[in-house]
Amino acid sequence: MSLGESVFGCDLTEPYCYICGAPAALHHVIPSSRRNASSIEGCWVFLCPVHHQDPTYGVHSDREFDRRLREQCQRLWMERNDATVDDWRAIFGVNYLTDNPVDVREEYGSKPRKKNHITRVIRRPNQVAF
Ligand SMILES: [Zn+2]
Ligand SMILES: [Zn+2]
Repeated sequence: MSLGESVFGCDLTEPYCYICGAPAALHHVIPSSRRNASSIEGCWVFLCPVHHQDPTYGVHSDREFDRRLREQCQRLWMERNDATVDDWRAIFGVNYLTDNPVDVREEYGSKPRKKNHITRVIRRPNQVAF
């Protein structure tokens, strides 16, 4: 298997989650029939067990997270190669770019803790509390 340099900047000698920094395993961002191209083109990333395989938060379960990761991967790949959407599509078939990209580290970095967040109730000064 030929593994190109990760567009996410992941280093094979430091297998830590791109999202949260925990010990991690390699994930091919563009899988199935494009898996080989994903390896060669560096479209891989390290993900910890939570961000990889967790039934709720893992990229293999959370379709939106998966889509966002593919979008970021395409954006980084295009930047690195000074390439166009058509260049990407010629290799990977599908354009994942949208008008409202997010940084997956910011969006998903604290996700497993979100369910424990306490919603703070803010009262406006002119509201009377009974
Ligand atoms: Zn993680
Ligand atoms: Zn995977």
